[in-house]
Amino acid sequence: MKTYKFKLYSHKRNRYLKRIINASASIWNHCIALHKRYYSMFGKHLNKFQLMKHIAKLRNKNSYWKLVDAQAVQDISDRIDKSYKLFFKHHERGVRPPSFCKSKKYKSFTLKQTGYKLIGNKIRIGKKIYGYYKSREVEGKIKTVTVKRVSTGDMYIFIVTDAHSESIGVVTGQIAGFDFGLKTFLTNSNGSDIESPLFLLKAKKQLRKLSQQLSSKKLGSKNWNKARITLARFHQNITDKRRNWLWKLSHKLCDTYDLMCFETLNLKGMQRLWGKKIGDLAFGSFLEILQTVAAMKGKKIEFVGQWFASSKLCSSCGHKHSELHLRDRTWVCPKCNTRHDRDKNAAINIQREGTSSLNLDTVRLPLVASVA
Ligand SMILES: [Zn+2]
Repeated sequence: MKTYKFKLYSHKRNRYLKRIINASASIWNHCIALHKRYYSMFGKHLNKFQLMKHIAKLRNKNSYWKLVDAQAVQDISDRIDKSYKLFFKHHERGVRPPSFCKSKKYKSFTLKQTGYKLIGNKIRIGKKIYGYYKSREVEGKIKTVTVKRVSTGDMYIFIVTDAHSESIGVVTGQIAGFDFGLKTFLTNSNGSDIESPLFLLKAKKQLRKLSQQLSSKKLGSKNWNKARITLARFHQNITDKRRNWLWKLSHKLCDTYDLMCFETLNLKGMQRLWGKKIGDLAFGSFLEILQTVAAMKGKKIEFVGQWFASSKLCSSCGHKHSELHLRDRTWVCPKCNTRHDRDKNAAINIQREGTSSLNLDTVRLPLVASVA
């Protein structure tokens, strides 16, 4: 699969797309309300097909909702269903159920096989044609087209196709375990650690200045709106930088290792431990991107259960040092006297646990036997 991102040329006509996004928000919120009501009445999760049937009926009588293509409506109920399922499965790990969304904040709609047509550097959506900056050719059969607006007011289209990515990974026979951290983003069991770039933290001063500029303007005025867009652009810039960094890191790791072991993310616990900064670290996005790149290059990622005591086990003798405190950055094993760096020791344990649970036949790793 390949994703292409193109920017739509600013045009008055784009407001039609924004209307479709707003109408999608209205459908989304209606679905959420139905889910909540259904749950409070029957104590059960509303079935996706029941929901779709109901929404389809309502849509037929509602000209505003009709702006949204039937497949985009289906995409909405799919997404809600998915996030409810995720919530039921992982709520104790801090996953929240989907919630209401202001139409201003609602960002996109997605089309599958119908409702659009690509014509050169233009795309027809519904009955209107929009121009976009076509920076490269689209290869493969189109699976979805997503129209997205960002907070700066700019519009983008994302085209996902079934094209195979040209990059095939090289088998290196290398394995590593990684421990997530605050200052050191990844502690590597092999030694080359990755420091956190903390883009948001670094831009704090500039960010404060821009927010002050915004709050000094009269709410809703022309200058206020200008300042709002400048601030939104700045945020977007930080997000882009972070994503860029995560992509580069993922490629680097997948080029170096055939198998990467991580601890299962416990975002709730990390939040409790580290507070707000966790958003800037973006562990969740990192794993998502890493999994994409790994799939592309034929590399494997293994997760170790979150109850595995990666920090407390001595990686030399296996003794469990239960008295270890969070503030202990280094410790000495009382049994074998080995001195440990907390994170490095954890990374080694994660690597070991990750490889031990593997069915080694399924992994194409020439050197795996010497590690496990
Ligand atoms: Zn020991």
